[in-house]
Amino acid sequence: MINIPKGTKDMLPGDAPKWQYVEKTARDVAEIYGFKEIRTPVFEHTELFSRGVGDTTDIVNKEMYTFLDKGDRSVTLKPEGTAGAVRMFVENRGEFSSLPLKAYYLTPAFRYERPQAGRLREFHQFGLEMFGSDRPVADAEVIIAADTFLKRLGIEGAKLEINSIGCRECRARYHEALKSYFRPHLDEMCELCRERFEKNPLRILDCKNEECKKVAENAPEITDYLCDDCAAHFEGVKSLLRKEGINFTVNPRIVRGLDYYTRTVFEFVSDDIGAQGTVCGGGRYDYLISEIGGGNVPAIGFAAGIERLLLLMGNRGAKFPEGAVPEIYVGATDEKSNEEAFSLVAALRRANIYAEGDLMGRSVKAQLKYADKIGAKYVVILGERELSCGTAMVRCMKESKEESVKISNLEKYIKEARS
Ligand code: ATP
Ligand code: MG
Repeated sequence: MINIPKGTKDMLPGDAPKWQYVEKTARDVAEIYGFKEIRTPVFEHTELFSRGVGDTTDIVNKEMYTFLDKGDRSVTLKPEGTAGAVRMFVENRGEFSSLPLKAYYLTPAFRYERPQAGRLREFHQFGLEMFGSDRPVADAEVIIAADTFLKRLGIEGAKLEINSIGCRECRARYHEALKSYFRPHLDEMCELCRERFEKNPLRILDCKNEECKKVAENAPEITDYLCDDCAAHFEGVKSLLRKEGINFTVNPRIVRGLDYYTRTVFEFVSDDIGAQGTVCGGGRYDYLISEIGGGNVPAIGFAAGIERLLLLMGNRGAKFPEGAVPEIYVGATDEKSNEEAFSLVAALRRANIYAEGDLMGRSVKAQLKYADKIGAKYVVILGERELSCGTAMVRCMKESKEESVKISNLEKYIKEARS
């Protein structure tokens, strides 16, 4: 037997209602906030991610699914949604004359990681991106959209943590402060962090290595190094969130995984799903679009991991909508009646009724058992007698009651039973 690849999962038919519920909630929220769906390719030129995610990130350093295609081009399966959305924006810039452009996506993403609960090699993200505004209202709108999404799913326990990591100017001063702090500890730290020390010391704060985390505990905090503009921007975002009654804490340790984040960064974190507690992360990336060659356009977005949301909802006993069950099962006593049942089922479906019939050649007894198993609300069995007189007994499964109904009236009968 050939097994499923490590770190991937099938969505089984029984899980579909849960996934569809989360996806529908995502679409509903995106739409009332004015975001339109985009779809970008599952693979892109590798360079898009090394530039757009940043070559000092874990994603680019360790986690990408990169390969040469038959034309010897290096391509990579998308590890996240932002870079592709930015490429789409830049490439179609002419079509977006009035900003902001507000886009959302539901997409698979691929990262070569060590699989654990809530950490997969293929996972799924719901994300929003807003291109064109550098104002605190844009940050607040995106954060509130994320908050609305989580609340609609019944996830009240995820805490919002926010931070500002400033602009190039504040970051340069902060990098110096971090370097002076980390320099004497370099030999206690992991090899990657020693590299980060040279290239992007901010990334050290995101290291998952215990030793590095310990050293980082007393590192200087970015919030003390913000320039006046960035500090005022951060105050603006916080005050809008307060005004809207959104609870948050400032966590100066949040730096996020991507290199091109600026100013606002945020995460929704839950302690209900163990180590993989971040269900949603986002931030502002005012330099990314120019990095990809699209000029000076500020942007902000977030992405939420669907598997982690489902895990969290499962752990908290969330109520999911039930999957659809047949409104009626039309059984038959013999081969000839089964043909009539087949036509009846087809007609009911044309009238938009979820109907089922026997496809397996089961006995009447087995058909009744099966109809019950799939949760059919009504059951009718057609035989020679029913077909000749044009009426049949329709059984309401919930109330164990039977009623004689004209076969030509079944559609009306079922539709009336809906209300
Ligand atoms: P982590 O710190 O847990 O590795 P991250 O910072 O790498 O997360 P992001 O790049 O911000 O994650 O991705 C956004 C969201 O996507 C995360 O908050 C999480 O819910 C989800 N996510 C990220 N990586 C995985 C994965 N390997 N498996 C499942 N979900 C993931
Ligand atoms: Mg990660």
